[in-house]
Amino acid sequence: MLKGKTALVTGSTSGIGLAVATALAREGAGVMLNGFGDPAAIEELRAGLEAATGSRVRHHAADVAVAAEVAALVRATEESFGAVDILVNNAGIQFLSAVDEFPEERWKAIQDVVLNAGFHAIKAALPGMKRRGWGRIINVSSAHGLVASPFKSAYVAAKHGVVGLTRSVALEVAEAGITCNAICPGYVRTPLVEGQIDGLAQLHGLSREKTVRDVILSTQPTRRFVEVEEIAALAVYLCGEMARSITGAALSIDGGWTAR
Ligand code: NAP
Repeated sequence: MLKGKTALVTGSTSGIGLAVATALAREGAGVMLNGFGDPAAIEELRAGLEAATGSRVRHHAADVAVAAEVAALVRATEESFGAVDILVNNAGIQFLSAVDEFPEERWKAIQDVVLNAGFHAIKAALPGMKRRGWGRIINVSSAHGLVASPFKSAYVAAKHGVVGLTRSVALEVAEAGITCNAICPGYVRTPLVEGQIDGLAQLHGLSREKTVRDVILSTQPTRRFVEVEEIAALAVYLCGEMARSITGAALSIDGGWTAR
């Protein structure tokens, strides 16, 4: 379905981004991976993905918290593949704290990675998409882009910002063959969530097990984690021609969390 297209997926060395990159490569898209990690492990991942899918896969280690590195990442993808047809702004970080104690450098880091990186990537990739008259921008927001939870002020603010950015961009490019949507997942058991369990347990004074059951999964009426493959399948659908009228949407995939 996506043969001849190129996808750039930020934060794709792990979790949701890796699943999205894998699914897009399976559909035939060339893929630029991005994210940190041990270089040898990333090379193994890249080569494995290329061998398993037959699609061309590259990796760029840009730190998306830095505007110039985001622009360089988009440029490198265009130079290596000829285009960025599909842009998935996925990289994300989290930090839990009461708002009146929130460390300012953590606040700034979250805004840079979660919100500002998407702006810089969209700004750099849009001219090429407009020239070609086709593009798909998918911003991985969160249920926290639509509703809030305590102790996550920076993340909630940034993810709400991602939904606003998505809507504005969608309106600007609606007639240019480009769609821009936000995916809003509920809890997915990736390293990002694993890393929060201890912090939440401490903040709520609960065991790890009780935190998963009574704090994390209590938000999701389905009482189970969303799987990365479910999000990847939605991303693939959004890249298809039958999704050309879906734009400016904030699509929940959250087990009913935001239906409450
Ligand atoms: P994850 O497994 O921690 O993956 C995040 C990815 O982003 C990793 O590849 C990470 O690399 C990369 N990354 C972090 N900071 C970066 C930076 N400055 N520059 C480049 N790459 C960077 O997390 P995930 O759960 O898959 O999250 C992916 C997205 O989904 C995030 O935007 C997150 O907010 C969102 N989301 C997640 C959930 C959930 O429950 N998991 C729910 C809703 C939304 P390293 O691993 O090397 O740091």
